[in-house]
Amino acid sequence: MSQIEYPPGVAAYVARGAAMSAAEAAQRATMRTKKFDTIAVHGLYNMEAALANQGSIIEPAYLSTSQHFENSDHMEAALAYLMPSWTYARIANPTQHYLEETVALLEGYGYPGEVSATVTGSGMAAVFMATNPFLSQDPANWAGSGAHPANIVVSAKCYGGTFMLFSQRYAAERGIEVRWVRNGLDLDEWAAQIDDGTRFLFGEMPSNPTLGVFDIAAVAALAHAHGLPLIVDSTVATPALLRPLEQGADIVVQSLSKTMGSSGMAIAGALIARHNIPSRVGPGALRENFALYVKLLPLRDHGPGLTPFSSLMLLNDIRTLRSKIDELSENTLRVATFLQTHPRVEAVNYPGLPTSPGHAIAQRDMWLVDGDADGKPVNRYGHLLSFTVAGGVTAARTVFDRLQLIWRATDLGRIKSVATIPAISTHQQQGDTGRTLAQVPGNLIRLSVGGEHYADVIDDLDQALATI
Ligand SMILES: *Cc1c(COP(=O)(O)O)cnc(C)c1O
Repeated sequence: MSQIEYPPGVAAYVARGAAMSAAEAAQRATMRTKKFDTIAVHGLYNMEAALANQGSIIEPAYLSTSQHFENSDHMEAALAYLMPSWTYARIANPTQHYLEETVALLEGYGYPGEVSATVTGSGMAAVFMATNPFLSQDPANWAGSGAHPANIVVSAKCYGGTFMLFSQRYAAERGIEVRWVRNGLDLDEWAAQIDDGTRFLFGEMPSNPTLGVFDIAAVAALAHAHGLPLIVDSTVATPALLRPLEQGADIVVQSLSKTMGSSGMAIAGALIARHNIPSRVGPGALRENFALYVKLLPLRDHGPGLTPFSSLMLLNDIRTLRSKIDELSENTLRVATFLQTHPRVEAVNYPGLPTSPGHAIAQRDMWLVDGDADGKPVNRYGHLLSFTVAGGVTAARTVFDRLQLIWRATDLGRIKSVATIPAISTHQQQGDTGRTLAQVPGNLIRLSVGGEHYADVIDDLDQALATI
């Protein structure tokens, strides 16, 4: 961009843009000194911004598709990305911007370096935009030897949509090798799959629907030793319980549709990245600020932007994230404990149970941010669990069909309790082999515990289990 000659009038806008960026950086620095709840409530929206918006104390929803410019110099400076602007809502928008800044501050909480975020039209769009740039076949952007085929190393315990994106869109359609890690807790299994064709490592922590756990710090160290980024989907944990960037991950993916947006009124996603990530692929801008690079280039070209209205819904949901997750986690531990002792339940997957194989790592890594009301550190393990029903698929379907309070839906993270049978819903299309790989049996029920009184949720499960 710097080689192009701009008319002198453009320089004035570039200078104005620099002042705007500096003011925003100062506000970001101020907010970084605040506690998690304060950031969640305010984000980057301050009194000065409110006064420029008729005094509105809530971030306004800018539903306009595009921005009007003062003159051609202003337009040129903006469209050349020489000053902060939003130009066209496929790329950026002020309401979306406030959501991005809030999400970046929350995922970056406790991480000393710079963090940026880009929001997307769904969680799947975020998984796609966080991974696709590393699959470049452009030799100009590839530092590998080419001795091995392009491949990605992925924990097999992952969301069905992610499984399909990787196995169908990337592997079957484009010839990218997907190397599944069956036991995410086994570091040797991760290490054995990496070679000079590897583009990134990817894992969910904890995973949907089996609540698998892996050691983010150890896998990040392994990735970094090979000059590779680690991408973590932490939709189920949210930054209220786990911040992968603080633990060494490079990029975090969130389905904002789920727990972050607990009211269930918007489909959305986010990718959040620390600056200066390792990568064997891509131009320098990709490494320097991955989230911004994605926003300005690949996301602009692929087009999976988020609507301003959904952005506002999510800002509203996120304000109370920490206290909600605290309450949902406490409810879920009680429900998990009930299920574990029930004679019709074979096994319960919940990292908060001491019997869970991932418990030690979950206990080390999953803490309610800023502790309890007195600031005392407390472990919390989230709102999602799954359990297998004794008597197989038919019994599981009977229990599921008898639920009267818990909704039957392919959804999670809601303030309302929701259950699904993954084998016939979220993990249906990956087939038997794929489900065996991801360890999703047919009699598994996934339960996202909501904000109802836990005793009522337990009663509903109890009456449903009593029928088999
Ligand atoms: C739902 C989900 C996604 C996809 O999010 P959408 O917003 O539904 O596109 C990705 N990862 C995990 C862990 C999920 O649960």
